[in-house]
Amino acid sequence: MAVRHILCTQCDLPLDVDETAKSVNCRHCNTRVITEAMVVAEYVAVRRFATANRMRITKKGIVYASVRADALEVEGVLQGDVVSLTSIRIAKSAQVKGSLRGASLSLEPGATFVGDVAIGPEQVPTAESTVDGALAREAAAREAAGR
Ligand SMILES: [Zn+2]
Repeated sequence: MAVRHILCTQCDLPLDVDETAKSVNCRHCNTRVITEAMVVAEYVAVRRFATANRMRITKKGIVYASVRADALEVEGVLQGDVVSLTSIRIAKSAQVKGSLRGASLSLEPGATFVGDVAIGPEQVPTAESTVDGALAREAAAREAAGR
């Protein structure tokens, strides 16, 4: 079996998953994490819509949710706050409203986008940043417990 390294979509800590797994239980925060690539071609209205994989919202997709993905492509309608660990592509047919965070952004001419953006490699969680963060939190907790 091939192993894929992901970050939990809930707590951002690193997990190793079977490449073929559709979901996994996070061993850090015990949340069910979707790990399959998603193609969205319907109406979706939820609070949080997340996968530790690619997500593509097609022209038929209408999504009202906070979205989290490893890479995001939008061709349809999206309203909500977005975090993509790598790229965000907003195609010319897309209508997006909300805040965007990602390592990179491409916005095609013709696309509608209204909202805030925070783009750059340092804007998104990475295995290094979250592991360092977790180790620092653990060290701080130990120190606090020792006093
Ligand atoms: Zn987790």
